[in-house]
Amino acid sequence: MKTSIIGFPRVGELRELKFATEKYFRKEITEEDLLAIGKELRVKHWQLLDDQGIDFIPSGDFSFFDTTLDTAVLLNIVPKKYQELQLSSLETYFALARGYQGESGDVTALAMKKWFNTNYHYMVPEIDDNTKIQLVGEKLFTEFKEAKEAGIVTRPTILGPFTLLKLATYHGAKKAEDFYEAVITAYGQIFDRFAALDCEWLQIDEPALVLDLSPVQVQQFSTLYQKLLRKKGNLKILLQTYFGDVRDGYQEIVKLPFDGIGLDFVEGRKTGTLLEEHGFPKDKVLFAGIVNGKNIWKNNYQETLRVVEKLQSLGEVVLNTSCSLLHVPYTLANETELTEDVTSYFSFATEKLTELNELKKILSNKEESYELLATNDALFKQGRFSRNEQVAKKVHALTEQDFVRFPSLEKRAAIQKDKLKLPILPTTTIGSFPQTKEVKQNRAKFKKGEITESDYTAFNQGKIAECVAFQEEIGLDVLVHGEFERNDMVEYFGESLDGYLFTEKAWVQSYGTRCVKPPIIWGDVARAKPITVAYSTYAQTLTDKPMKGMLTGPVTILNWSFPREDISLRESTLQLALAIQEEVLDLEASGIEIIQIDEAALREKLPLRQTDWHREYLDWAIPAFRLVHSKVQPTTQIHTHMCYSEFADIIQDIENMDADVISFEASRSNLEILDALKAINFQTQVGPGVYDIHSPRVPAVAEIETTIDRILKKIPIEKVWVNPDCGLKTRGVPETQASLKNLVIAAKKVRGGI
Ligand code: GLN
Ligand code: ZN
Repeated sequence: MKTSIIGFPRVGELRELKFATEKYFRKEITEEDLLAIGKELRVKHWQLLDDQGIDFIPSGDFSFFDTTLDTAVLLNIVPKKYQELQLSSLETYFALARGYQGESGDVTALAMKKWFNTNYHYMVPEIDDNTKIQLVGEKLFTEFKEAKEAGIVTRPTILGPFTLLKLATYHGAKKAEDFYEAVITAYGQIFDRFAALDCEWLQIDEPALVLDLSPVQVQQFSTLYQKLLRKKGNLKILLQTYFGDVRDGYQEIVKLPFDGIGLDFVEGRKTGTLLEEHGFPKDKVLFAGIVNGKNIWKNNYQETLRVVEKLQSLGEVVLNTSCSLLHVPYTLANETELTEDVTSYFSFATEKLTELNELKKILSNKEESYELLATNDALFKQGRFSRNEQVAKKVHALTEQDFVRFPSLEKRAAIQKDKLKLPILPTTTIGSFPQTKEVKQNRAKFKKGEITESDYTAFNQGKIAECVAFQEEIGLDVLVHGEFERNDMVEYFGESLDGYLFTEKAWVQSYGTRCVKPPIIWGDVARAKPITVAYSTYAQTLTDKPMKGMLTGPVTILNWSFPREDISLRESTLQLALAIQEEVLDLEASGIEIIQIDEAALREKLPLRQTDWHREYLDWAIPAFRLVHSKVQPTTQIHTHMCYSEFADIIQDIENMDADVISFEASRSNLEILDALKAINFQTQVGPGVYDIHSPRVPAVAEIETTIDRILKKIPIEKVWVNPDCGLKTRGVPETQASLKNLVIAAKKVRGGI
């Protein structure tokens, strides 16, 4: 029995890649320096995998920003405007990823979207009628050769043509199918190149196979691969799927002449049944995804063995992770503060390698393995999660009324209009202001005990005062305090909630150089003490304008934490909702009139198949949000914020959250959402982001005016807010100030012109 992984966290044990890349962005290191650091990390990771005894080691899973973007670039899917910048290949790459503003021109970045049901984000390839898909890059081959030089034969991995073309956006008349011939040629050349390099296996990722597929789409997939696989020669091709089961077209797909097929036995609820009902071809290797690539809990060996033992009769089985380990932190080794009785339940990427290895030993009946099994067994036999009876009772006592706010949205809008007296097209921001070095240092020093609590608070109050003064100076209408006390929008709340555990170095890549450190839900959740009231009320004393209270919503807290596996996600979310409800009521009682409850990650755990959306998720997630604000006064204005634009398909559910105002990302996706809002006659007031904060580029006044005008063509003016598309914490001060100034000027100009 062999072991395999789909991909490894490339950002490095201590986020080395992130820091190096950011240094490169700030021009503190050269392109050569960055390339060298990238290589060093790759070699380190290959060696680690080799040392841990992994048989199939991937290459090509490394990326300076995103592997979907890497694949697009490899295949010449680079819109003309980026090519015309005439930059070096690395600079062009980063222009696609982050936009570019400089001597060579001014371009925005490609759109960025959530990667399936994860908190990772990919860059959306853009294809137009002139796009000439062809193999032009070297990255994949270079990395394979590098590994070989380091003495390690890898299995290169690449995003497959079906998923790539499905995720791309098309400007023009051509559709995905019109590029099938081109991708067949290009991937065929990739096969040839690897064959010439004596490569044995190539892994092709086709996660799109776990989505709802129509018979026509299954047919397209089959035709595409029948043609492509004719070109594979002696190269063995692994079709790798993850994040679910291949329910649609299973029988047809497994018959295709792949040499191996990777299936997900963790998130793929039906994978086992599909195999039982339809079998699995004996001539193919089954890469069984049995070690969870998304959660951080130890694998239950007994359960896994039960699954694997059943599979063994089907032919050759390779033990695999359920998805790339990109979605879990690098190693437990650097967690020094958590005690053994806790960490013994955890398994991060490196420990998952050990798990694969141990499972392999157990399955080969090695004597030493009995103890491994016994130790693992013992862990799962003892109860580990702390229960809080009161919380459990509260959740069970909830009735329908707890989820409904009175009066109706329309009546509240009138009441709030009277009270708040905001201008038309009110301007605001999403909450955070730049987290400068000083801001981070202040928190770090306090954490290390180098400064007193009063010094720490005084510094933050100073920043708040500065931030409020700036917002008043430029004329924003609804102010924020700036979130200087927050490291992260989830961790900050988790720290004041019972039932949470925190890590020190357990970072996970979210996009590009951005990483998050999800806290871990360990027990029943309850609010230990007021969380945001002191800073919000302090900020309100500095201004006569409304100061927005700023909270993270229960669904987002859940989705950006590592959840428990012993109780349902629904139950955990309701516990969180009750805790945040207490905070909302405290803010209201302290005179805060507008409260934003961010649900940045609402869509994150939306099942990939539409048929499961309501039953499995939205039917409890949306009520959980309503529970948080159902008890506030009609005069209190509830805002929410979402970080992505893709909610046309759940637009009614978003309306059912019953918030008074919602802001969301729109600029990167070209305001596509407006049509959906218009189509259902969306009643909630909306602030579609008027500029992209994920890029350092400063939008001109005229550009923002145009955006507002476009919004006003679709949405009645009395419902429109003007704001950036997300929080500003990752941005620098100069561009933030310049952008916000332009935003206010643009809003005023549009108001003046009406
Ligand atoms: N209020 C948060 C901020 O401004 C929202 C962040 C987010 O949407 N991810 O940073
Ligand atoms: Zn956001």
